[in-house]
Amino acid sequence: MKYADFYQRSVVTPEDFWRDEAALIDWNTPFSQVLDYSRPPFARWFVGGKTNLCHNAVDRWCATQGDKPALIAISTETNTERSYSFSELHVEVQRWAAMMQALGVRKGDRVLIYMPMIAEAAFAMLACARIGAVHSVVFGGFAANSLASRIDDAKPALIVSADAGSRNGKPIPYKPLLDEAISLASSKPARVLLVDRGLAPMRRVEGRDVDYAALNAAHLAAQVPVTWLESNEPSYILYTSGTTGKPKGVQRDVGGYAVALAASMKHNFCGKAGETFFATSDIGWVVGHSYIVYGPLIAGMATIMYEGLPICPDPGIWWSIVEKYRVTRMFSAPTAIRVLRKQQPEYMRKHDKSSLKALYLAGEPLDETTSSWIASELGVPIIDNYWQTETGWPILSIAKGIEDAPTKLGSPGVAMYGYKVKLINETTGDACAANEKGVVMIEGPLPPGCMQTVYGDDARFVDTYWTRNGDSVLYSTFDWGVRDADGYYFILGRTDDVINVAGHRLGTREIEESITSHPNVSEVAVVGVEDKLKGQVAVAFAILKDANAGTLEQDVMAVVDRQLGAVARPARVYFVTQLPKTRSGKLLRRSIQAICEGRSPGDVTTIEDPASLQQIQRALL
Ligand code: AMP
Repeated sequence: MKYADFYQRSVVTPEDFWRDEAALIDWNTPFSQVLDYSRPPFARWFVGGKTNLCHNAVDRWCATQGDKPALIAISTETNTERSYSFSELHVEVQRWAAMMQALGVRKGDRVLIYMPMIAEAAFAMLACARIGAVHSVVFGGFAANSLASRIDDAKPALIVSADAGSRNGKPIPYKPLLDEAISLASSKPARVLLVDRGLAPMRRVEGRDVDYAALNAAHLAAQVPVTWLESNEPSYILYTSGTTGKPKGVQRDVGGYAVALAASMKHNFCGKAGETFFATSDIGWVVGHSYIVYGPLIAGMATIMYEGLPICPDPGIWWSIVEKYRVTRMFSAPTAIRVLRKQQPEYMRKHDKSSLKALYLAGEPLDETTSSWIASELGVPIIDNYWQTETGWPILSIAKGIEDAPTKLGSPGVAMYGYKVKLINETTGDACAANEKGVVMIEGPLPPGCMQTVYGDDARFVDTYWTRNGDSVLYSTFDWGVRDADGYYFILGRTDDVINVAGHRLGTREIEESITSHPNVSEVAVVGVEDKLKGQVAVAFAILKDANAGTLEQDVMAVVDRQLGAVARPARVYFVTQLPKTRSGKLLRRSIQAICEGRSPGDVTTIEDPASLQQIQRALL
């Protein structure tokens, strides 16, 4: 079939299109209406239908391929490999569901999961889905303050965590950070369930902290039936960065998400039941939710969860996993491929990668050098895909499962089915012509699988993302883009204060707030600066209250490490006595960024004091 026809049907008669796609999953009760869009921009998909993500990911496959691998957890940090068949996963998930119920978790309650990349993290997510609890996974690299703000927003009934993660063979204790976060938070969880990996000592809080091993022992034979959920009930919250320091809780539904994942596994990732999928992301990010846990399992595939670095014990580790588990589809990020490119090619070449059919890359712009290099090393198609935490699955890509259309270097591809992608001129609000730069927007309704709202804050969802445009409403991706005459898009970076470090999304405001909490910092500007390896890095310019107090760059970095986590640590902190601002007091972040990247600062006619720009220039020398 021609992709253009498939796409047209998805946007011209979306209800017919998605009714057909909905048949890819199991429904306990059929839906009565495909789409309710009576209250734009809120879209409700598959109204009245009852289903369950855990059923579709696990139970559904037990009958036909119960003994086939479902979850393969590999850690090169602890040198362990554990493989669970669909039937074994079914058993584990029911134990976890029973443990959660025993700890008082009920349908609709939030469960915050702060875990390293171990199988138990996936069990916990699936168990929540099974009983209708709403999980909120927080990336293990985030530290106390980030965690505390998420605890306060989600108000979890239960937190699931572990003693430690591990990086490069060194334990990274989680429990002290978690304790600090809970003490900072005003909303306290009643219970904390802890997996002890024996990596770091843990202090238990009497009456609150529960040991997983002991509780699990009491639920070994647990049988917990699936709770059928109306399609639009919430499945999870995933926090992401925006323009303000306060993280946004992206809330997703059940039925729409299951259908979108099943559709994308078929049309984009061409996944077949019984095959193995390997996404190298982390469960703390959206890729981990969609394409480590739910997507592959919903498609009946085995999924690999990998804890470790891509270059340890040697740079061939990923390809040894591909060889051993006959991985057919792999999903990673450009930064990781750039890291691999710097290694000796023999490590990669010595492994049999003949099972691999395609490599999917997402999360940040894919440069031509990286793309061409990995394509020639692997000899398989490299498929870029552009999306965001908010959408849950690709907005732009090439749907190879529909048509083997060509890719174009530097472009993630064309609009995916269901997405009415528009490019809008920022000044005039008009649709852009071919090759004209504009903001990437999506005409509502968003297709199934995309965010329903900002958790607990419908107004913030509407105000942050949506603008009225004649009779329709437009969702902003906050990305600049251009489209060529063939309909291929090219993404040119964010329009807001969000930066992208190695595919990880960070808000400059969050980092600024953290740095100003240093007692000797009065003001700071954080910008994203182009970096050959990571795409972008954060760079800070800080004004000290007392320049003679001996405050060092490392002291400021340590504050960010402690509060937000090393993931948010700026690459450099420069001290200045003035920051470039407009006469109305607005920080000229774009000018600072331009100077850092060796470009002209642009239009600075509104600047209060041009000497501030010279300070930035001098600091960089
Ligand atoms: P996140 O929500 O963390 O997935 O970050 C989403 C943002 O990452 C997007 O708004 C883009 O700025 C960027 N992004 C994601 N995928 C791509 C891609 N394939 N090409 C270019 N930018 C991307």
